[in-house]
Amino acid sequence: MNTTRTRLQNVHAARWSLNGDSIGSVDLTDASNVPFGANVFSELEQGKRLGKGTMEKLKATLEQGEALDTSLADEVAGAMKEWALERGATHFTHVFQPLTGLTAEKHDSFFEPVGDGAAIAKFSGKELIQGEPDASSFPTGGVRDTFEARGYTAWDPTSPAYILENPNGALLCIPTAFVSWTGEALDAKTPLLRSMDALSKSAILALRLLGDEDAERVFTTIGAEQEYFLIDEQYFFERPDLVTTGRTLFGAKPPKGHELDDHYFGPIPERILACMLETERELQKLGVPVKTRHNEVAPNQYEIAPVFENSNVGSDHQQLMMQVMQSTARKYGLVCLLHEKPFAGVNGSGKHNNWSMGTDTGHNLLEPGDTPADNLNFLFFCAAVIQAVNKHQGLLRASVANIGQDHRLGANEAPPAIISIFLGAELEKVFETISAGEGDPHTPGSFLELGASVLPPLPMHGGDRNRTSPFAFTGNKFEFRAVGSSSSLSFPNAVLNTIVAEAIDELADSLEKKTESGLDKAEAVTAVVKEAYDANKQVCFMGDNYDEAWHAEAEKRGLKNLKTTPDALPELLTEQTVAAFGDYEVLSERELESRYEVLLEQYTIRANMEAETAGAIAKTMIVPAALRYLELAERAEVSAVAEDVRPLLNELTVALKELDSANHYPDGVEGLDLAIYARDNQLAGMAKVRESVDSLEGVIADDLWPLPKYSEILFIK
Ligand code: ADP
Ligand code: MG
Repeated sequence: MNTTRTRLQNVHAARWSLNGDSIGSVDLTDASNVPFGANVFSELEQGKRLGKGTMEKLKATLEQGEALDTSLADEVAGAMKEWALERGATHFTHVFQPLTGLTAEKHDSFFEPVGDGAAIAKFSGKELIQGEPDASSFPTGGVRDTFEARGYTAWDPTSPAYILENPNGALLCIPTAFVSWTGEALDAKTPLLRSMDALSKSAILALRLLGDEDAERVFTTIGAEQEYFLIDEQYFFERPDLVTTGRTLFGAKPPKGHELDDHYFGPIPERILACMLETERELQKLGVPVKTRHNEVAPNQYEIAPVFENSNVGSDHQQLMMQVMQSTARKYGLVCLLHEKPFAGVNGSGKHNNWSMGTDTGHNLLEPGDTPADNLNFLFFCAAVIQAVNKHQGLLRASVANIGQDHRLGANEAPPAIISIFLGAELEKVFETISAGEGDPHTPGSFLELGASVLPPLPMHGGDRNRTSPFAFTGNKFEFRAVGSSSSLSFPNAVLNTIVAEAIDELADSLEKKTESGLDKAEAVTAVVKEAYDANKQVCFMGDNYDEAWHAEAEKRGLKNLKTTPDALPELLTEQTVAAFGDYEVLSERELESRYEVLLEQYTIRANMEAETAGAIAKTMIVPAALRYLELAERAEVSAVAEDVRPLLNELTVALKELDSANHYPDGVEGLDLAIYARDNQLAGMAKVRESVDSLEGVIADDLWPLPKYSEILFIK
């Protein structure tokens, strides 16, 4: 039926050339082609268009987290509209992040008819500050059922507005929060903003105790390394599993994988680089500070990383980055896969969430500094992170849970589902010395037996890197590597900020008591650090997280190993989670329940989609191909071939029957039980079907095989 199809496809894809007329070439000698932030309503732009008083009030909101003075709205809206119209925008939208984990938008035109066929451009302060998308179909986990049916979007002045260009127009985008009329968060941004406030308050109080009188605000910062695949779009559209579920549900391991390490950090293929360059240029225009790119380990896998920003802007920029990566890829005949595990047996994709805390006076609290006091601060905040991660390890795991992650965590080159911290040899030594009561607190360098008055910079690169750890200290920040590639950064960071705020307060209380009891500051801080480390060091692990032996060791230590999403999500509702989120006013119990319900439902729905897609592909594409080949073999009377095919085909039909029956939900099962049912029956059933299909792939004539194979998808660049 399609004898030459795959060959032709390969030739087509491999011949793809930059000279193709679909892509415009860019004159990079013209600096105006890469104007950073050209499409952002930046502080610079605002300064040109807003009065001085307005600017000052806006700045107070941005820098000190003060509530916005709504009387400014009309002036800001007017300036924003003028700026957007100059750039060809015809519409505006509030951009928000409902609990689907994606971004949502609803466009409105600026133009309003004024009679006689004329129209004027209109955009009021009210339209800037508040929107009412009729977004009642978004999942809310029941929050809105009990109150008002509609939610509203509220302008977030701390994340700059920007313009999205399209060949046929432009759109003004305004980052917003999405909340119910009773103030419940219906989105991912609201809890992140609340958690940043909470952490700032706790950290400032602690800094005062530690003797810092200058800092007024502490910002959490994130810089995420995003991994992704780029594959030829023709293969994508030939694979109903990729189109529907974002991952391949079938596919035998190719003879060549990444064993030769010929892709990792290798030269970037021309088409891919062309796509990356355009993606980066677009992102730069949007003010996203992209910096690094390279080939990743798996074939056709790549990475992009920005310079870090405050958590809210960094998280918004991450969403934008994923959107631009996906849309730009299409211009190059490519599809960008953000799924955590698009190919079985091949490395999956993560999003390494580099995280730190910095003061408005320019100190990174997770960096040993130039004075003994800075070093004590560093040890204090580091110990708080260790305490938070140990106490809330289950919650952190839950914060990165989704169905794609269940295939990634613990598989090829991905951290396991067990949350542990890697400190690195130097920092571990510092804590161990403190724990042993050795070293002189007044001479922090003595913790490394240096006798120096300060700690040296801790290594960020080289040998002291442990790539297998889900949560690693990397010199001046922690890298939360368990985050999945498709995930929004908002929730994992809201969790991180909240639990660290709580731990900072716990340590600060203890510090206050110790100081009151007469210890000097250096002694008191090291005593607090010692207590925190001793109580939580079980979560610190310097070994190989990929090693099976770690699972046994972790169990002995009492660490959690929540392998799948249904195992992890109940952590959102434990007493200590509810207490932490409640005390810091980040999420109420009701809001947590709604998130739990939505995440659970998404898992179940996606499992069901995968199971139904797998069943349909196997039944309507694979079985017919096997039958055709069997018929050929029988007609030619080559019994050896027929004997290869027949048992596999029989196996497949049996497995398909089981999957079919698993795909019929039992009566009366819902919620967590249904998610567990889906995992244990539908996903397990799919795995069996896959086994037979992948074996058949190695037997059936290539020209009869209806799906592009891994050896094609992963190697045509
Ligand atoms: P490494 O080589 O250790 O991964 P890089 O300097 O390349 O370190 O940084 C990796 C990522 O970490 C980048 O996205 C970067 O922006 C981010 N990063 C660096 N410093 C911080 C910080 N203080 N807070 C948050 N992220 C940071
Ligand atoms: Mg990486």
